[in-house]
Amino acid sequence: MSSDLGQCDLAIVGAGIVGLAHALAAARAGLSVTVLDREAQANGASIRNFGFVTVTGQQAGDTWRRARRARDIWVEVAPKAGIPVLHRGLVLACRRPEALLVAEQFAAGPMGEGCRLLSPADMAGFGVFAEGLAGGLHSPHELRVEPRIALPKLAAWLAAEYGVRFLWRTHVREVAPPRIETSAGTLRAARAVVAPCNDFLTLFPEAIAAYRPVRCKLHMLRLPDPGWRLPAAVMSDLGLVRYLGYAEAPGLAALRARLEAEQGAALADGIHLIVVQSADGSLVVGDSHHYSDTPDPFMPGGVDQRILDEARAVLRLPNDTAPIERWIGEYPSAAGPAFIAAPLPEVRLAMVTSGTGMSTAFALAEETLNSLIGLPIPDAAE
Ligand SMILES: Cc1cc2nc3c(=O)[nH]c(=O)nc-3n(C[C@H](O)[C@H](O)[C@H](O)COP(=O)(O)OP(=O)(O)OC[C@H]3O[C@@H](n4cnc5c(N)ncnc54)[C@H](O)[C@@H]3O)c2cc1C
Repeated sequence: MSSDLGQCDLAIVGAGIVGLAHALAAARAGLSVTVLDREAQANGASIRNFGFVTVTGQQAGDTWRRARRARDIWVEVAPKAGIPVLHRGLVLACRRPEALLVAEQFAAGPMGEGCRLLSPADMAGFGVFAEGLAGGLHSPHELRVEPRIALPKLAAWLAAEYGVRFLWRTHVREVAPPRIETSAGTLRAARAVVAPCNDFLTLFPEAIAAYRPVRCKLHMLRLPDPGWRLPAAVMSDLGLVRYLGYAEAPGLAALRARLEAEQGAALADGIHLIVVQSADGSLVVGDSHHYSDTPDPFMPGGVDQRILDEARAVLRLPNDTAPIERWIGEYPSAAGPAFIAAPLPEVRLAMVTSGTGMSTAFALAEETLNSLIGLPIPDAAE
């Protein structure tokens, strides 16, 4: 006979940032919430990312709107949950005049609000950038948390503050409210949210397949403390051609053409530079993007080298800098940035199908709860 795991208003499958964001929105709406995860603690995309909550550069429309709302929730929740915000803002370091032109065009548009252009002298003044940059763009909108610290703290705070119950080491094999069938027994829940990230096959595989997701593998590196402190998260020319928020800039085609001529191998590896700093001064540096149904587990050295080359071209790194840690991350990728599906009337499937979950999940969760229980979406008209 299957063990009785009790009951709740809402069961959430997945304790990554998408699952936890739904737990917050539901608990604040007064629902009793149980989060189930097959792992002993969050171990997926949500602890492997940069912890970079990004607004500037996000695709116009849903992603940009969600990113602004979710950033505000991070600002509110991080101190309550004891999650340090390690730095704020973004400096887009432009190596080439073509990149600076794209930055200028972006800054002049509606999504450039609050951003300001940086001269070569401004860049030199930070004391962290390599010589010879064409200039840069500063955005004040971003923040950075340490994901491997933030996720456990967020879960602990949700439990302490809202009584959210966590069932770890619990594989969910069927979601059919009021029955949630798991490896540990049966939970009774009136409704459920499924946030399984890159598990496309266990729960509602047909509903997931409709979005045609594939898996994206990313290389990540950690470099030792370079002896200086970043003024903000750092990106470079390669990010301008990858982040969809810059897509409308008329100068983008010229930048892309120059990058194809000069950094074709980096583009082929889907490399764009993000550098953020941790409390101990070490730098998290990435990343690459390789897409397949089953990503292999290998990390070719050439990919890491190209990421490092870009970091060196932008930052004043010591000559002997070498990675002190490397890891692979993975997220689902599909045509749209995220989806909320309703495979059953009382179930929602929530999946971020782009590299934006840390930046958007809190807002996506409000939309899911709107669709599931009619919860009003705060700031939706903004
Ligand atoms: C290297 C890397 C860098 C990134 N950089 C950024 C960034 O800078 N900014 C940004 O906004 N986003 C970034 N992202 C994207 C972001 O990390 C993801 O969008 C987000 O973490 C997805 O959250 P999730 O909760 O869906 O996934 P996960 O954190 O993977 O959580 C899913 C959970 O579901 C559980 N699960 C699945 N199926 C079951 C089941 N049947 N039963 C029980 N448990 C189950 C898994 O065990 C897992 O814990 C990055 C991602 C990677 C990999």
